[in-house]
Amino acid sequence: MRLNLLSQLICLVLPTLGVLTPAQQAPSAPSRPSAPSRADILRGEYGPLRANNDLLSYDLDIRVDPEKKFIGGKNTIRFKMLKDDNRIQLDLFDNLKVDKILYGSTELKYTRELGAVFVDFPATLKKNSVQSIEFHYSGSPKETGRFGGIRFGKDPAGRHWITTACQGVGASVWWPNKDQQRDEVENMRLRVAIPNALTDVSNGRLVGKTDLGDGYTRYDWAISYPINNYGVSLNIGHYEHFSDKLGDLSLDFYCLPENLEKAKRQFAQAKPMIEAFQKYFGEYPFKRDGYKLIEVPYSGMEHQSAVTYGNRFANGYLERDWTGVGVSPKFDFIIVHESAHEWFGNSITGADISDMWIQEGWATYAECVYVEALFGKEDALKYVNGYKSKVRNQQPIITARGVNQTPSQDQYFKGALFLHTLRSVVDDDIRWWKIIRAYYDRFKYRNIMTEDVVAFFNQQTGKNLTPIFDQYLRRAALPALELRFQESDGVVSYRWKTDVKEFAMPVKVGRTLDWQILWQTIQPTTEWKTMKTDLIKEVFEVATDLYYIDVIKN
Ligand SMILES: [Zn+2]
Repeated sequence: MRLNLLSQLICLVLPTLGVLTPAQQAPSAPSRPSAPSRADILRGEYGPLRANNDLLSYDLDIRVDPEKKFIGGKNTIRFKMLKDDNRIQLDLFDNLKVDKILYGSTELKYTRELGAVFVDFPATLKKNSVQSIEFHYSGSPKETGRFGGIRFGKDPAGRHWITTACQGVGASVWWPNKDQQRDEVENMRLRVAIPNALTDVSNGRLVGKTDLGDGYTRYDWAISYPINNYGVSLNIGHYEHFSDKLGDLSLDFYCLPENLEKAKRQFAQAKPMIEAFQKYFGEYPFKRDGYKLIEVPYSGMEHQSAVTYGNRFANGYLERDWTGVGVSPKFDFIIVHESAHEWFGNSITGADISDMWIQEGWATYAECVYVEALFGKEDALKYVNGYKSKVRNQQPIITARGVNQTPSQDQYFKGALFLHTLRSVVDDDIRWWKIIRAYYDRFKYRNIMTEDVVAFFNQQTGKNLTPIFDQYLRRAALPALELRFQESDGVVSYRWKTDVKEFAMPVKVGRTLDWQILWQTIQPTTEWKTMKTDLIKEVFEVATDLYYIDVIKN
């Protein structure tokens, strides 16, 4: 279920654009455009063999052998047919073996091409029929990608520590599934058998723990909400556990034993953060499954109801002042950013990674909302503007659709600065917070595209904001406010210099007087307009901390 709202799929395959492989969240060099590979088309396209069915549930039942770095088991996949057909597409990395695919007691035929597995049924599956197959697989998954994919590691004390973080790479790096973002299961079971000495902390609720009698114990997790594939997570190690409550929301924390005191201190930030997000966005989305924060060896990931954390129990990001303006050291960036994804990323999900700003831009903006809630508006303004140093404006935030093309890092920082700019366009905070809350409420538990966001904001504001969205998200360059001073006449001319011709956005201009800035709002378009001013070029100011724009003074 959880198909996206757009009824029509638009698959733009632009041969001149290619795959971006950004490094960890630090600024990275711009990537070279290249044609999408066959693998990227197979992964990225929501083709007819994906669109012919709607996921209902996964039941992933696996055994993990840390010594052999080996996984084996099966995923029972339930789905509903949306049309008559006899073939579907699933995904599993080609280094993993398909042991068999069962349909009842019938072994199904299948064809593999790179990461795709095309499964054939002996007869046509009828539209609206509910089907179930058992996908058996095994092998040694490879450690790969931005966050490691799956890692058979050791903790500092030399004990086994196996973690997954497969956003971008794809969940099919370690288990078979329909590996895309448009369609999610309604719920999921995750059964993980591991050596007795270890603990697995995964998504959802632990509903059972069974000693299998052969040195292995199976942990059974039940996820009672829709979940995206990359949000499904294994965290297998020697974990200590402590817990807390926020009203009737359970908060569970897991860390290595030696970090217990540090974790108790640092993880105390979770509660006021969730309170702030609940105030501005709405109730924590996965209440039945609880909120968990789990120590891992990489920086962190938004695994649904099981947020993973590796930020060294220190404020900022990896002990740095993340936006470089003195605000970041007041809080733990990973706790806040990754948890914000529970609202923006896990509850509201971009249906294609081309539009992943719906997850990353909004989660980054949520950091600013958190700063405003806890430390005040002045800090929030400083914090969001600190992100300007990380923006490159070299490619549009939204990439080509259907070709597995990860957007550039601008999706985070420019995405947040764009939403901050949009707030200044609305220019009424009470209204802005109402719109933000209504936005979350409208799209929670759904998979959407930018068109849905634009239509919602246009409807809420009663304005045509489409050209503004287009310029910030679909073009590389910032809008530039061009000013021409004719000081002898006491006149200034102004217009927007943009790629989008219909671009029109209000902006505040003015001057500093007795330490106060006196603003007036002007309504520039891409056509020249003129106004009277007694200000000369040098003292004429533009509110560039409220609007993320360039200013050209002539
Ligand atoms: Zn993120």
